[in-house]
Amino acid sequence: MNGYELLGVSEPVLAFGETVLRELKETFERIDAIAEQNQCKVLAAMHKNKVNATCFAATTGYGYDDVGRETLEKVYADTFHTEAALVRPQITCGTHALAIALGANLLPGDELLSPVGKPYDTLEEVIGIRPSTCSLKEYGVSYRQVDLLPGDEFDYDGIRAAITEKTKLITIQRSKGYATRLSFPVEKIGKLIAFCKSCKPDVICMVDNCYGEFVELQEPSDVGADMIVGSLIKNPGGGLAPIGGYICGRKDLIDRCAYRLSAPGLGQEIGANLGLLPSLYQGFFLSPTVTASAVKGAVFAAAVYEKLGFRVIPGSAVPRCDIIQAVELGSREKMLAFCEGIQAAAPVDSYVTPVPWAMPGYDDEVVMAAGAFVQGSSIELSADGPIRPPYAVYFQGGLTWYHAKYGILMSLQKLVDARLVTL
Ligand SMILES: *Cc1c(COP(=O)(O)O)cnc(C)c1O
Repeated sequence: MNGYELLGVSEPVLAFGETVLRELKETFERIDAIAEQNQCKVLAAMHKNKVNATCFAATTGYGYDDVGRETLEKVYADTFHTEAALVRPQITCGTHALAIALGANLLPGDELLSPVGKPYDTLEEVIGIRPSTCSLKEYGVSYRQVDLLPGDEFDYDGIRAAITEKTKLITIQRSKGYATRLSFPVEKIGKLIAFCKSCKPDVICMVDNCYGEFVELQEPSDVGADMIVGSLIKNPGGGLAPIGGYICGRKDLIDRCAYRLSAPGLGQEIGANLGLLPSLYQGFFLSPTVTASAVKGAVFAAAVYEKLGFRVIPGSAVPRCDIIQAVELGSREKMLAFCEGIQAAAPVDSYVTPVPWAMPGYDDEVVMAAGAFVQGSSIELSADGPIRPPYAVYFQGGLTWYHAKYGILMSLQKLVDARLVTL
């Protein structure tokens, strides 16, 4: 008996999947080639910093002289080619890392500019786009946004006009997040940064790098970003990091982030690792291949649903800039069926049914399917989306390619079973 049959995938669904897969061989080879180069990059940084068993020792209390923590931060900085890095379990998630980077480097009277349209949902409250206690707005930091032009092009004239004396920091989101635009290639981000700096040479350019790490050969820090920011329960944690975030970039900016995270005067010198470093190191080591698995899953999902006539973003043939695949399913029922399939495929909590709920930080009801070893980890196979038109699910992750493949087959199985899709 075929293993997929055992797992509840019917013969027609499996056959459909295999047909789609045959056309993806070259794309998968390209993904593997990128993973290979990124693996070299991580290893070189580990060699340079002489990672050894003493780096894995647990520290408690203040965590002074934590060699493992300091070395890990150097490994991140060297991998991403930055002067400094702050990589901590005390950074609780991606939003927290971004809030630190923004809060540390924006002072009352400064203005924050997003030249790429509305930022990720949870940042609306950080910035104060939606009224929120302790937002940057409350502290006197103003915000401006320049929307993308049709075709997701940058509105260079609009951006030039929006950069003023007050513009201190420019935030660029690499990944589409919960929007149905395309994610930006690193090269394109580089052009935008160069343009912003030509308008105002001392403006700080920060990139929200969530979901983008190791998808391409370069990172935004290779093309002029002063800070890149992300979550360890996404790509760079490799599925093993149980918590954490990173900020890599210019030393003066990272110093400020450290003072904001701990306290003025304390900065980077404090922060016990609580025994979490082995998984942070090993996760980073695995991240290039884990990310490649997730990218393969995204491409496969695109190809499957494209063939069935759904709008998918990006299309299966488009080079990847992040691990997210959006599929516009067009109805609440289809969203729920898709998510049921992803849930049923999970190694953990496979027997539960995802139910939409109002999540903190999000405006609309959100449905989430995830059966992860690390709660909410989206480098693990997961699907989610706000329940609002065009009813797009955002599919991401897969610690192994085979699990990602199975998840997509199950999503299709549930749609077929509910007669929402015919093959
Ligand atoms: C996930 C994500 C965030 C926020 O990260 P959390 O860890 O969920 O707080 C911010 N920006 C983008 C683009 C993301 O994908």
